[in-house]
Amino acid sequence: MTGSPVWHPFTQHGLSEPIPLITRADGAAIFDADGTRWIDAISSWWVVTHGHCHPRIIAAIRAQAERLDQLIFAGWTHEPAETLARELVAITPEPLTRVFFSDSGSTSVEVALKMALGYWANIGAPRHRILVMEHSYHGDTIGAMSVGARGVFNRAYAPLLFDVGTIPFPAPGKEQATLDALEAACREHPAAFIVEPLILGAGGMLIYPPHILAEMRAICAAHDVLFIADEVMTGWGRTGTMFACDQAAVAPDIMCLSKGLTGGSIPLAVTLCAEPIFAAHFSEDRGKTFYHSSSYTANPIACAAANANLAIWREEPVQARIDALSAMQADHLARLSGHARLTNMRRLGTIAAMDVRVSDHGYLSDLAPRLAAGFRERGVLLRPLGNTIYVMPPYCVAPADLDQIHGAIGEVLETI
Ligand SMILES: *Cc1c(COP(=O)(O)O)cnc(C)c1O
Repeated sequence: MTGSPVWHPFTQHGLSEPIPLITRADGAAIFDADGTRWIDAISSWWVVTHGHCHPRIIAAIRAQAERLDQLIFAGWTHEPAETLARELVAITPEPLTRVFFSDSGSTSVEVALKMALGYWANIGAPRHRILVMEHSYHGDTIGAMSVGARGVFNRAYAPLLFDVGTIPFPAPGKEQATLDALEAACREHPAAFIVEPLILGAGGMLIYPPHILAEMRAICAAHDVLFIADEVMTGWGRTGTMFACDQAAVAPDIMCLSKGLTGGSIPLAVTLCAEPIFAAHFSEDRGKTFYHSSSYTANPIACAAANANLAIWREEPVQARIDALSAMQADHLARLSGHARLTNMRRLGTIAAMDVRVSDHGYLSDLAPRLAAGFRERGVLLRPLGNTIYVMPPYCVAPADLDQIHGAIGEVLETI
């Protein structure tokens, strides 16, 4: 073996693509030891909201680390978690009253699924089937993969994935088919429907309108099917509002949050639920306990970072930054929309996405890495999903940096 022992995620090491070594980050930029600068146009996998190394978040991490670094969270508690849970209940849709901590988006989804099945088991009416939306992504653990789209990414593990009911994506003009399919599936008493509100991220930045989200929620409510909103990507302002559910006035039964929860500084996730789900587990019978934990559940340093994120939301003009970025993204999309190689220009809040026209599929398989290499050479970190290029920068991105990102897209398209 030569070189680094590190096995990188979603990386084909056999293709010998360069893996830059980053030593420092600031705002919307990352740097290597030579001082080469790249604009982080995808917020380091959708997590960095206010910008890298926000002084307030870093200060909170430092202060908390010196006071209480880690604590078993079964049977013990600490102020950063108590404060964070109270704040989260206050800012999320009203029926959500309880907060369960974990460490990643995937684990928050596992917790959501276990809460749903635990609810039905504990009220003495067991249900097991989960409904999902076509093209969804909910994470890479076995349960999260089971409720996500099947494809090359999980083919080897398919025998381990549990069976789900799949509702078609509400593509323009086909919304009624989605609602009809959901209604029919709900009549068979599934445990829950899990969905990414308003935009399917890893599935290719596929956008659908708020009224469809609201109608799907109403169908689940009418049939007593738990509605799980996976806001792991959409939360924390990405879609233009604090949560995507806010745009449809939707209150889910269960909500998953991670990525931007700590401003993108340190791993943390939460699964919030409505009171009946907690109540179904509340008992003098130990058998009804919610048997789930991870070693670092509600790590105090991570909770302190999340509390700093919430303070930034309260005290800095975050919404104004989001609105300004959203408007700039719209302008750039309008400018690129004449490009012969681009189609399906779309935007939701701060997220801009477009598809590269491709004719044959063999070509498609290496299109994304070739585009990414072109962007990297032009000082921009972008990581297309198949033939979909998307721009999702931290909210602090400077107009000149956004010009450079979209300029690089136009340039790189000329080279392929
Ligand atoms: C990223 C993502 C996840 C998984 O989160 P991890 O922290 O990567 O485990 C789950 N759901 C959605 C919608 C995501 O975008």
